[in-house]
Amino acid sequence: MKEAHKPGVYDTLNPIGLIKTAIEADSKDYDESWNKRKATVRRNVISVYGVPPDEELNFSPSTSSNCVRWEGYQKLGYEGTPMSFGAKMATMIGRASHDELAKILRRNAPGRHNVPTNLDSEGVYGVMDWVFNNPILHKEEVIDWKFVASFKFKQINRDGLHELLRNTKNIYNPEPEYRRQLLLYMYDREKRGKEVACGVVVYVNRDNPEQMKPALIIWDAVAKYDAEQFLKEIQEAKLAVKEGQIPKENVISPYICRSMCPHVQHCEPGQAFAQRNIRRKRKVMPEWVYKKQREEFAQRQERLQELGIIPLPLPGFEDAVNADPKAREPFRRKK
Ligand code: SF4
Repeated sequence: MKEAHKPGVYDTLNPIGLIKTAIEADSKDYDESWNKRKATVRRNVISVYGVPPDEELNFSPSTSSNCVRWEGYQKLGYEGTPMSFGAKMATMIGRASHDELAKILRRNAPGRHNVPTNLDSEGVYGVMDWVFNNPILHKEEVIDWKFVASFKFKQINRDGLHELLRNTKNIYNPEPEYRRQLLLYMYDREKRGKEVACGVVVYVNRDNPEQMKPALIIWDAVAKYDAEQFLKEIQEAKLAVKEGQIPKENVISPYICRSMCPHVQHCEPGQAFAQRNIRRKRKVMPEWVYKKQREEFAQRQERLQELGIIPLPLPGFEDAVNADPKAREPFRRKK
């Protein structure tokens, strides 16, 4: 039988216990002061107007892109499973990396960092990591950093890549939830009258940070249609929350229910989805969206060729669709 560990004098030199306690305490302080501030704002608004502030119901692009039901549980005050120490550490490292990168890029690269969204009338509030004006296309790129572990980094591939990007190298397709998050950001920029080229999720391998993968979402008719559909789902979820109801789930990837969402304990559809016992309905895209996408596709190709960016013409969209009907679903990832 293994002998029980007896603390020796050198154990007292190990600072890990103190580090963990400090991080746990900081996280508790952060949560408490956040809740206190929210309560103060609520009290102040109610004391003047008699009703709580509208902003209370604002949905965040990052949580909503995982699942609007998750947002609903939060808004309705459900207690989620407390974060593990590992998750707190990962959040802290992610936050610090975001801040440091923003500082470095602010000094050395053009663009704006930590740009707030302006989707107030849609009741969505979030912050974009980096908005950069591409000096060749004279259009904006919305960039978001994701710091991920090695195993996840390896899973990022080119499956379902946009037709326009098939002749590229080292360009990847983002996970559907991150695509959804960036769709909201691009929609926001266009709403402000900006011309948008694409969104880019830059995956950084946390375990080997020199490795990065850019995953592109071209802003075209299909992307815009998807953004509008997603905003409708958010509106429906907000309405449910206003009536005290838990919104209908719109999660895409089972691992979100399995290992990320803190509300899976009281969410039956999430438990079934985590076990892959339910399937999401395949969405049907109206034909006019594809038609518009084809027109944009032709214009973009022409423009890119004028700029000498694509030396060889890409196959036409129609040819691609005839050869492979799946090309009609340029963003769907293979399971
Ligand atoms: S468990 Fe899944 S379906 Fe339920 S709220 Fe969480 S993410 Fe949504």
